[in-house]
Amino acid sequence: MCGIVGYLGDGNVYDILIKGLHRLEYRGYDSAGVALVGNDGKINIFKTKGKVSNLEAFCADKNLESKVGIAHTRWATHGEPSDTNAHPHFSEDGNIAIVHNGTIENYKLLKDALEQHGCKFHSETDTEVLAQLIEYIRVTNNCSLLSAVRQALHQVVGAYAIAVLEKNNPDTIIAARQSSPLVIGIGENEYFLASDASPFVEYTKSCVYLKDGEIAEIRRGEPLKITNLANEEAEIDVTKLEMSISQLEKGGYPHFMLKEIFEQPSTLRDCIRGRVVADGTHININGVNDNKEVFLNAKRIVIVACGTSWHAGLLGKYLLQDMCRIPVVVEYASEFRYSNPVITPDDVVIAISQSGETADTLAAIQIAKKAGAFVFGISNVVGSSIPRETYSGCYIHVGPEIGVASTKAFTGQVMVLTLLSLAIAQLRGTMDEETIAKVGKSILKIPSYVKKVLKLNEQIERLSLIFTYARNFLYLGRGYSYPVALEGALKLKEISYIHAEGYPAAEMKHGPIALIDQEMPTVIIAPQDHLYDKIVSNVQQVKARGGKIVAIVNEGDTVIRNLADHVLEVPEMPECLTPIITSIPLQLLSYYIAINKGKDVDMPRNLAKSVTVE
Ligand code: GLU
Repeated sequence: MCGIVGYLGDGNVYDILIKGLHRLEYRGYDSAGVALVGNDGKINIFKTKGKVSNLEAFCADKNLESKVGIAHTRWATHGEPSDTNAHPHFSEDGNIAIVHNGTIENYKLLKDALEQHGCKFHSETDTEVLAQLIEYIRVTNNCSLLSAVRQALHQVVGAYAIAVLEKNNPDTIIAARQSSPLVIGIGENEYFLASDASPFVEYTKSCVYLKDGEIAEIRRGEPLKITNLANEEAEIDVTKLEMSISQLEKGGYPHFMLKEIFEQPSTLRDCIRGRVVADGTHININGVNDNKEVFLNAKRIVIVACGTSWHAGLLGKYLLQDMCRIPVVVEYASEFRYSNPVITPDDVVIAISQSGETADTLAAIQIAKKAGAFVFGISNVVGSSIPRETYSGCYIHVGPEIGVASTKAFTGQVMVLTLLSLAIAQLRGTMDEETIAKVGKSILKIPSYVKKVLKLNEQIERLSLIFTYARNFLYLGRGYSYPVALEGALKLKEISYIHAEGYPAAEMKHGPIALIDQEMPTVIIAPQDHLYDKIVSNVQQVKARGGKIVAIVNEGDTVIRNLADHVLEVPEMPECLTPIITSIPLQLLSYYIAINKGKDVDMPRNLAKSVTVE
């Protein structure tokens, strides 16, 4: 996590950095800071605990003139959120300043050694160790900053994206990455660098994604130079950005989360475009077309992901097993990587991450590759690490997701997994043409159906008022609706801080039923699928114990309508497509409950969006 921004050029450095920090605030907001090389030849560092807006207030009366600067918005891993632990960190002599995203695993060892050489530390962070180490090497070996950075990185174990400034060399930024993202924007006589391209999208569309083990030298008036840790020159691969500025703004909505919920008809349209062809009768996924043998011969599919992506992955299991008759397992990437997993070359591993930078998922990919499996990535951010580290994959194409609680990325991931399952089923002949065409045609209607579901907005806003003060929630679903229940509960926890549990509805009687009383609302996802009669019994069990029920049902449902306290009606779809439709009312319900409680829905406490640390 953490967001890094850097700028070297003739523009207003401070303004560019602050705007960039706001765009990256989804990555963490424990503290924010800037380091500017001032006209007085000093590095001036301004940093404060809390959000970027606090930093702006703090800087209001400061001299901010500068031609080069770096900035940071933090998600603390080492040391509490505080002014002192905020980045940028600096060497004791004040000669260098650094911003860092990642974790230095051997920081204690390095810190002890530096202390023995007389270094004094001011913060509890691993990052300060890196700052002091670089400066120690620079002074002891009397070498350039670039060489000192390279030597220091040879000693470091862990993950980092860093940007380093030197007081005596104000026309240079040195940047490097290992397992944390870093992208350099190349403008006219100016350079930008950032954790993702959003901070500079309005200034330039040309950028270079730094690769693991690479170090960039950004010097005023000189072309970009990239070398690796062995000091060999690397090729510079310039990419054209497709992101637009309007995608990064709220567009009249009070929060990014609400905007992103309402964007779903168009994000799903973009996700489907070109993939459901010939009037819905054929599914076209390039990653499958280009690797037919792999998908024909796969003996097992292993899905690795974290958080909301894991919930999408669980839906992927239901979809792939159902449509393709391949055994599927779904693993938390963080558990998978340390579980000594049994992976063979006959496995296809599917890695899912919105940002494409989730550290645990990237580690799982490396393990799968080493074991000889074919690795397929599903992510949203073009050019991020997962698409680069996998053999093939599929973007969800939902545009930048800024709200920390994922909404449109979840439905995009589920859509891609549905399309992928259909494409593999088509290839393996496990579904007949007629059924594929039926689902394909319904997929084409999804954007308009989602639009219809969004009309529930006002009803859900009113309903949310009844539950604002509930202290616990239970979410129940069966089959395809079970992962939806898990995701609904997660959404509520994340942004309203209400305890919520998602459960397979039939499992309720093995424990959670003991919790049911008038105080605890139960949200039941109950579309007319092959488990409908079963879930009706579960609704009755909750009712019999005096529980309050909110049910998501299909239009025209009469049975559950008579049992539940509140119903939200959604259009009927083929069973495999219901999760996309039923998850949307749950997103809105969490949003409004959190708003009623006065919570910051876009930046919920303790969370960050792009989890680039273990
Ligand atoms: N480890 C650094 C700190 O705690 C950076 C954290 C991060 O990138 O999330 O300040």
